Amino acid sequence: MYKIAVVPGDGIGPEVIAEGVKVLNAAAEVESLSIEWEWFPIGSERYLRTGDLLTEEDIDRLGKNDAIYFGAIGDPRVAPGILEKGILITMRTRFDQYVNMRPSRSWHPYTPLKRERDFDITFLRENTEDFYMGAGGSFQKKEPTSTIKIRRQLYDLDLKVEAVSSTDYEFAYEVGIMSSKGIERFADFAFEMAKNRGMEKITAADKANICTHLYHLWRRIFKQKSEEYGIPVEFMYVDAMAMALVRSPERFGIVACPNMFGDILTDLGAEIMGGLGVAASGNINPHGVSMFEPVHGSAPDIAGQGKANPIAAILAAKMMIDQLGRPDLGKQIEWAVKRAMDQKLVTADMGGKLSTQQAGDAIVELIRASG
Ligand code: ATP
Repeated sequence: MYKIAVVPGDGIGPEVIAEGVKVLNAAAEVESLSIEWEWFPIGSERYLRTGDLLTEEDIDRLGKNDAIYFGAIGDPRVAPGILEKGILITMRTRFDQYVNMRPSRSWHPYTPLKRERDFDITFLRENTEDFYMGAGGSFQKKEPTSTIKIRRQLYDLDLKVEAVSSTDYEFAYEVGIMSSKGIERFADFAFEMAKNRGMEKITAADKANICTHLYHLWRRIFKQKSEEYGIPVEFMYVDAMAMALVRSPERFGIVACPNMFGDILTDLGAEIMGGLGVAASGNINPHGVSMFEPVHGSAPDIAGQGKANPIAAILAAKMMIDQLGRPDLGKQIEWAVKRAMDQKLVTADMGGKLSTQQAGDAIVELIRASG
């Protein structure tokens, strides 16, 4: 029995999450597995009503579940950043979900790349450090020393910055920081995955020729881990990686990236796969509570119209059940999604005629028929 927290959120979140829950329940029924779902009204409606983003009580209750299944947040009535920082980023930080995992595979004929190119890539993005620490500031001329305070599950770090300039120009800066421990635990996850999947190598993207301090540490630790696991690591600069992903994606299996480059490359990965309608993501803490979500946002322009493609949310549910230890169910779900796509049992964004609910029903039917 698994206990899963559901946070449908805003916009199309509740519509696509309802389909993901339905599909995972259908796959579980076939295997006589029971899933207990606990629903949370976290999102913009509650925020506008009560001012609550993510409360301590939410965190406490979410943490009692085996995983979190998340829809989307975002609302035109709320200034950008408030919900994202107050809910999504806080959740990732509080549960120390240090790996962001995003698969990218060729969903023919929806991939914009040529048909003969079959690829199946798992992007792993370090989710807590690098240039997305929020460690930055601005100054003009000379400012007194300021302290940037960084608080993570792994450490507390105070960074004292003294800025002295010869001009009156305004300056702004953003500091990228990585720790040996942060890279080690992330690399362990990547190499464990490579070992379990019997892969011959992993690829690590960086910019070690320019950001030498940061990514020399990254490379040193990846080399150490590569020797420890006996699995080769191939280092690539992120710019070369972007080109290679379009030209020859079939070359890659597991691609490990620091936070910022991972953010960009995974969007490229989503696009070569077939776009937002099929892109799923997991924020993973292998020793704690992980969260799974579609990559797309709340898409207010199509909310409440039955137009949203539920496949990304369904594939996020597949990743969740894989991670919880039932990849057999995950395979079943992925098989049914592929069949539905082959038969054009999809929503309008993929050239089909079905509503969100009908597209979910079609996948449920395929799972039941195969069981
Ligand atoms: P947010 O502010 O929450 O990020 P957004 O509309 O800016 O929302 P997305 O939700 O990522 O960003 O979507 C961008 C556009 O892609 C949407 O306007 C919508 O038309 C389309 N889109 C996104 N997700 C889906 C989906 N699941 N099915 C169909 N179209 C989608």
